[in-house]
Amino acid sequence: MSDCIFCKIIAGEIPSKKIYEDDHVLAFHDINPIAPVHALVIPKKHIQSVLHIGADDGEIVHKIHLAIQEVAKALGVAEEGFRVITNTGAHGQQTVFHIHYHVIGGRQLHWEM
Ligand code: 5GP
Repeated sequence: MSDCIFCKIIAGEIPSKKIYEDDHVLAFHDINPIAPVHALVIPKKHIQSVLHIGADDGEIVHKIHLAIQEVAKALGVAEEGFRVITNTGAHGQQTVFHIHYHVIGGRQLHWEM
């Protein structure tokens, strides 16, 4: 999508600090981290949100989870643990409408909302 920030990052039109990339997935550091480790894992295919994943997107969803493993290992949080969050829609405070998985860690996380 031409006006999607994350599509522009995938296309290299907006720079990002890449952590992992394969045919289906890109992972990069969040520009505004909320923890010592805060990465974003996104599919290269433009999918708006969890609600827009289709029956044919199984391989992408699988690859995203494998990429999350790679990111956690690369950033040194696999052993201590981390959190994966996908904000969805207005109440979920989704601000970029290209599905993304926040990988957050590097400190003790809590569950206040
Ligand atoms: P959301 O609020 O939609 O769950 O998360 C969007 C995330 O994208 C935010 O954490 C925000 O900091 C991050 N973000 C927005 N624009 C950019 C950008 O241009 N580059 C990077 N690396 N992260 C971005």
